[in-house]
Amino acid sequence: MQIHAVVTGGAGFLGSHLCERLLDDGHRVTCLDNFLTGKPENVAHLLEHPDFTLTRCDLTEFVHVPGPVDLVLHFASPASPIDYLRLPIQTLKVGAIGTWHALGLAKEKGARFLLASTSEVYGDPQVHPQPEDYWGHVNPIGPRGVYDESKRYAEALTTAYRDAEGVDTAIVRIFNTYGPRMRPNDGRAIPTFIRQGLAGEPLTVAGDGSQTRSVCHVSDTVDGILRLAASPHPGPVNIGNPDERSVLRIAQDVIAATGSRSTIEFVDRPVDDPGVRRPDTTLAEKLLSWKPAIDWREGLSDTVAWFRTEPELPEP
Ligand code: NAD
Repeated sequence: MQIHAVVTGGAGFLGSHLCERLLDDGHRVTCLDNFLTGKPENVAHLLEHPDFTLTRCDLTEFVHVPGPVDLVLHFASPASPIDYLRLPIQTLKVGAIGTWHALGLAKEKGARFLLASTSEVYGDPQVHPQPEDYWGHVNPIGPRGVYDESKRYAEALTTAYRDAEGVDTAIVRIFNTYGPRMRPNDGRAIPTFIRQGLAGEPLTVAGDGSQTRSVCHVSDTVDGILRLAASPHPGPVNIGNPDERSVLRIAQDVIAATGSRSTIEFVDRPVDDPGVRRPDTTLAEKLLSWKPAIDWREGLSDTVAWFRTEPELPEP
């Protein structure tokens, strides 16, 4: 059955992949975005699709979507550290007022609502790996607090709308995701390393690189999100790849995948940079029968291939 899904932040990295997958599955999609950190080019290939609508809209101002809506996927928010550090107020506003408007839309339409939350709600975790019932270890006044607390507030607001207003809500806690359409300069480790590797520049590894990350290919993340959306479960549910590796190892793999002669340069670690990060995905496996399917090397080579087609990048 065809549904009408609204994707806020649909012109961003994850949102554009969600729009694409929903259309491929035969659904109607309205993408709402103010292009703060996303861009229309991310969905330009969908504009001719008869079931796709792109509407420029700032979620913190106002939201209106005509006609019935079955599903609201709320993804609007700056997400990379470089973005939320330069846009702290916008990040807090979209987490608070933007989430409030998106929940209001779901309430008005009787739609299911799914909040894109994040592994950052666990902060610099003292429990490893992180299950959904871990409350986290976040510094509210540290530089990352604007993002972490915006998402923690958004989770609380979503839960309040479920309990007090009867809205059918779900919360997904997404762990680091990578893939095509990440911005080469968004400051996250994988696109930065790929950009540096393709340019033959040194790869800048924070600290000694022993801190770990678990990275999930975007097609696996999108699959997990849409499984949760189609289920009756409220979550929160972790979606991420438990395959954990050090940042140094990720950099070395990128050098191999780009065929580069780049060296590694160790730089200062950002304040409150988490030491370890790995999802406990038991719940996603049990409730959604979801497990990531894409192997790291395969996902990395797919991502490098996409970055090679980006016009702003130098040829290797
Ligand atoms: P992104 O920056 O590529 O996309 C976010 C989109 O939201 C952009 O298109 C931006 O223009 C839009 N936006 C921001 N503020 C807005 C506003 N006020 N009104 C309308 N649109 C607005 O980031 P992403 O990596 O695609 O992340 C998308 C969502 O997923 C975010 O909510 C993020 O917190 C969450 N998430 C992402 C990851 C990841 O690894 N990429 C991990 C955890 C959670």
